[in-house]
Amino acid sequence: MSELADTRTGKVGGATELDALVIGAGFAGLYQLLCLRDRLGLSVKALEAGSGVGGTWYWNRYPGARCDSESHVYWYTFSPELMREWEWSERYPGQAEILRYLNFVADRFDLKRDIQFNSRVTSAHYDAAANRWRVSTEQGETFIVKFLVTAVGCLSTANVPKIPGLQDFKGDWYHTGHWPHEGVDFTDKRVGMIGTGSTGIQAAPVIAAQAKHLTVFQRTANYSVPARNVPLTADFKQYVKQNAEEIRTATHQTYNGMFFKVDDRKAVETSLEERETIYEAAWQRGGLQFRAVFQDMLVSKQANDTAADFIKRKIRSIVKDPKTAAILSDIDHPYAAKRPPIDTDYFETYNRPNVSLVDVKTSPIQRISESGICTTEAEYPVDIIVFATGFDAMTGPLLRMDIRGRDGVALKDVWEAGPRNYLGLQVAGFPNLFTVTGPGSPSVLCNMPVAIEQHADWITDCIAHMRAKGLARIEARPEAVEKWVAEVNEVANRTLLPQAKHSWYLGANIPGKPRVFMPYAGGMIRYREICQEVAARSYEGFALS
Ligand code: NAP
Repeated sequence: MSELADTRTGKVGGATELDALVIGAGFAGLYQLLCLRDRLGLSVKALEAGSGVGGTWYWNRYPGARCDSESHVYWYTFSPELMREWEWSERYPGQAEILRYLNFVADRFDLKRDIQFNSRVTSAHYDAAANRWRVSTEQGETFIVKFLVTAVGCLSTANVPKIPGLQDFKGDWYHTGHWPHEGVDFTDKRVGMIGTGSTGIQAAPVIAAQAKHLTVFQRTANYSVPARNVPLTADFKQYVKQNAEEIRTATHQTYNGMFFKVDDRKAVETSLEERETIYEAAWQRGGLQFRAVFQDMLVSKQANDTAADFIKRKIRSIVKDPKTAAILSDIDHPYAAKRPPIDTDYFETYNRPNVSLVDVKTSPIQRISESGICTTEAEYPVDIIVFATGFDAMTGPLLRMDIRGRDGVALKDVWEAGPRNYLGLQVAGFPNLFTVTGPGSPSVLCNMPVAIEQHADWITDCIAHMRAKGLARIEARPEAVEKWVAEVNEVANRTLLPQAKHSWYLGANIPGKPRVFMPYAGGMIRYREICQEVAARSYEGFALS
């Protein structure tokens, strides 16, 4: 800290000087703050736009919001005591319970005293001469820091489509990612919900149970597998407590940070009868494990077709109205090439007399009137519109801040044609800036807490290494970035993932966004090894000075 500093506040000329700043206080931000403060002893703060901790789980309070990772893997594993102290109540944790958990963790480790809430970062500019980041908030504060870590989430910039007329709508409208804390009362209301991704699929049954009428506007039909959520038994809770360490180890050894492993057998080498039995068992068991029953499901179109066909038949057998069933099962992409939703009574919901489906692929939404949603074919009067229309994923939360590296170069210019970085962790020309679960890392293809802990640990070890060696600056080398971007593309192209043309993995849901497959699809286990090897080779691919 400079001599002009007010030692009581850490402020210099109105700016707060710190060793490090973390942006965000969700799963990633909380843990990164803890690592930097309590393990390294840095002066560090987290800035959080919301008024509380929780990130995704703070904002996404829509009806039915629930995690699709099972609760025994959806938590922090850095502290054995913490794993013993917390107990989940259901197979998949719901939003409110996850938010309670994150508050519990924040209080348990006394993190809130170093989190500044209601503070949205608007810009972060690197000053090469001082080797410091100058970070400004919407609230007019400035921070000058050596290390800047973004923990802004992958799905935190809401996408409200620009549909003409929305401003004239006389009813209420909400985006699921900015749900009012007090909730929304749908009683006696006609509700129009746009979007049938994981969010819409979770929300529809819950809204339909309360509303007078729910009209779902579907553009791209989607697969979904039953979640089969249940309260956890006392035995299972006991099992988790006794085996927490083993569960943790197992999640470090899988492709996707889950506890279950992808089976070795191939769909294309399995007889039709046996395949049917396997799929039926997986359907009954429920959840994302459906994806894991054949190892070739995500790499062979022929194999994938067998899973796709099974689910489409299921949809047609559940949904009684043949026309609705046909629209719901007219799916244009391989199963799990888009993020596969899991649900509770989603397809069953269309059998309710108060639910209808509108196919906006054949008759697109044209505008919103004062009283409803207008497609090319009809006007649907509604009192409430729910936008379950997703997010400007992965790059959106970073690019909405004005981040500038060396020589004032803007991140949005460097990423004009898509994200370019090394290991998803650092961008060339942006020294000492780390991006937790950034594009180019497994992030959304992995159980998030596993990906987050690995990133936060790696960043913490890296900064510890720099301090031990008396180094002040770390920066990804351009050639390492080139290689990594090529690697991210190559591993994605070995899978069917890029074949879902409307996927947010590709940025295709946002008009004008470059279509680049963003997450690293080579698997969390491989990614972890690569990061370890890089560190062991004195941070190969990074320039340290
Ligand atoms: P999403 O997967 O991007 O789905 C958005 C939906 O809105 C799609 O059906 C999309 O149609 C539709 N849409 C967007 N703009 C539209 C427009 N102008 N007109 C008509 N339809 C439009 O978003 P999401 O459902 O919020 O999910 C995002 C991700 O969040 C998930 O994939 C998952 O990773 C995560 N999530 C997880 C959980 C969980 O853990 N259970 C729950 C919710 C979300 P198109 O497909 O045609 O673009």
